[in-house]
Amino acid sequence: MWSFRAWRRRCLLARAELPQSQWREQVGSLALLRGLSADELARLQRLVWLFLAEKAVVGVQGLELSDGMRLRIAAQACLPVLELGLGSYRNLEVVLVYPGEFVARHEYEDEAGVVHQEAVGLSGEAWVQGPVILSWEDVAGEPQAGINLVIHEFAHKLDMLSGAANGLPPLHADMSVAQWGADFSAAYSDMARRVELGEATVLDAYAVEDPAEFFAVMTEAFFAAPGLLLRSYPGVYGQLRHFYRQDPALRQGC
Ligand SMILES: [Zn+2]
Repeated sequence: MWSFRAWRRRCLLARAELPQSQWREQVGSLALLRGLSADELARLQRLVWLFLAEKAVVGVQGLELSDGMRLRIAAQACLPVLELGLGSYRNLEVVLVYPGEFVARHEYEDEAGVVHQEAVGLSGEAWVQGPVILSWEDVAGEPQAGINLVIHEFAHKLDMLSGAANGLPPLHADMSVAQWGADFSAAYSDMARRVELGEATVLDAYAVEDPAEFFAVMTEAFFAAPGLLLRSYPGVYGQLRHFYRQDPALRQGC
């Protein structure tokens, strides 16, 4: 069947000229991409090009985004969907980028039913039918092993394909929800116990905030420190390998 979207994509790709020098400068140095084959890198570049053609990546609060900065964000956003396709981000039109940490005003209801407003400083946020919001300072910084803000927020968008984020994105037909739940619950309980005992955790302890954060933090580790995740929680690594249809530990030799 003829599809306008497919036709438009073919036109875009035919005219595509990714700025290779900016790609090398902004993206080439990302450790995340280590081990990707030439074919995978070429497919990633095509995805990035389409991502930037279809979504607006906009600087706010006076931040001027260069093409190179947009490339750096898009390459990290597209890596998780390299084998899933850009349709996975169909509920995203805009990425807003603040210069640094931004203040988000949230409402919450306490046990007595009283609604409170609170202002919290954030480095990233993802909305169910809305934008992904990022702090450039955190995108550009050199975080500790296994931390990656862009991948974290875009993992929330994948989780939100089935509604509010709950740590269970829509799984492929050959995956088991029960096995996913068992592997993630075991790892979650282990990390929660360590945090409770005051032990240092190998992976970011923010994960045990709730199951949605756990999925996002495990996804960061899967791409940014795959060896650490494979050794810490092999069950979770296996589930994410099936879900993302990628094996970063294998390609990075760790
Ligand atoms: Zn989060």
